[in-house]
Amino acid sequence: MAAAVYNPFENAQEQFDKVAALLELDSGIRELLRQPMQEIHFTIPVKMDDGSTKVFKAYRIRHNDARGPAKGGIRFHPHETADTVRALSMWMTWKCAVVDIPLGGGKGGVVCDPHNLSETEQERLCRGYVRQLFAQLGPNRDVAAPDVMTNAQHMLWMLDEYETITGGRYPGMITGKPVGMGGSLGRTEATGYGVIYVLKNLLSEMNMPVESTTASIQGFGNVAEHAASLYSQLGGTVIAVSCWNQADAKAYTFRKKTGCDIEQLAGIKDAFGSIDKDKALALGYEVFPGEEWLKQDVDIIIPAALENQITPMACPVISPSVKIICEAANGPTTPDCDELIRKQGIVLLPDFLCNAGGVTCSYFEQVQCGMNYFWDKEEVFEKLENSMTKAFSAVYELSVEKNIGMRDAAYIIAINRVADAVKLRGWA
Ligand code: GLU
Repeated sequence: MAAAVYNPFENAQEQFDKVAALLELDSGIRELLRQPMQEIHFTIPVKMDDGSTKVFKAYRIRHNDARGPAKGGIRFHPHETADTVRALSMWMTWKCAVVDIPLGGGKGGVVCDPHNLSETEQERLCRGYVRQLFAQLGPNRDVAAPDVMTNAQHMLWMLDEYETITGGRYPGMITGKPVGMGGSLGRTEATGYGVIYVLKNLLSEMNMPVESTTASIQGFGNVAEHAASLYSQLGGTVIAVSCWNQADAKAYTFRKKTGCDIEQLAGIKDAFGSIDKDKALALGYEVFPGEEWLKQDVDIIIPAALENQITPMACPVISPSVKIICEAANGPTTPDCDELIRKQGIVLLPDFLCNAGGVTCSYFEQVQCGMNYFWDKEEVFEKLENSMTKAFSAVYELSVEKNIGMRDAAYIIAINRVADAVKLRGWA
């Protein structure tokens, strides 16, 4: 059987259509919410260090801003497409709504591989992105943040370009900035920690003490590393971590049956999350092909890399020991898997609930920038855990009450909130 080609935007629409029908949503609202409200496709010319000019394709897509300014990251990825950004912008709308923060959904992307760009080329790319787009951005309009292969330094270059052009200081224009430059303490950890706060709540509902559980994780970027780190701190055992290896252009799974030392692995990874294979071998890790992470006999699997990783072809290889899929990435499971997973008796924590900790902390960052007064880390984590727990409880209770999966329950809550905002504004 040929592997199906999955389009993340079609996946996002399929998930939305299913719940819109269930809610008997008005046809106008349905049409409005099943596609982005605004798309900007543009090119960025960048002077390279060798004097040549390279032109990069870029996007900023706003799905919906009925509940507040559009919010969402900017990804740097060689395989970025308009449809990926469309899907991600849509998921941002639901993500902000499910945790009930007053923001809409947007997303940006640049087709590039930052591994192949020097620091000065990356800076010029970030500044070029804002130069093309500055009139569309701003704290009350559209607020970007880090995502796959972008970080705090990229955000600060973008902010600096925006402030240079507009001639003011607008720290709320972008989030995920460096601490001390308008960034919030805890923002780096927030997405990964949020994943584990939600997981902790689910484990307690399932009467599974964290310390008795094991997990296998796909990815070792910012989200995966901090999720793995907090999970280990709480006593869970990470058996395997799978990640991309830039040097070999292949993914590998690193396994230690007694438990991976996350700090140690973090010490041998590059800035984009590739673990050094030779160093891992020297530290006693077993090294397998990338897809092995899915086959481990663990309680929890955490896809924390990219979309479309768990497909109907992949479902049968998931070990029968797995009880929970914790979607730390955006869109890691294709819609045709949800039913299969349910039949396998696995509970799924849906992406836009599970990984909403990042944007929740981005919201805290904007609030702190607005006051020009910054909270300490404990206060940030306490507020973050409260928000994630509240969102989880609402989703979990609805899923139990209606006997539906948590993905559908989260969609019902999020879509209702956005549809209400659309109606209150008189758009439909
Ligand atoms: N890129 C992150 C996400 O997908 C964070 C977005 C934000 O903070 O605006 O949720």
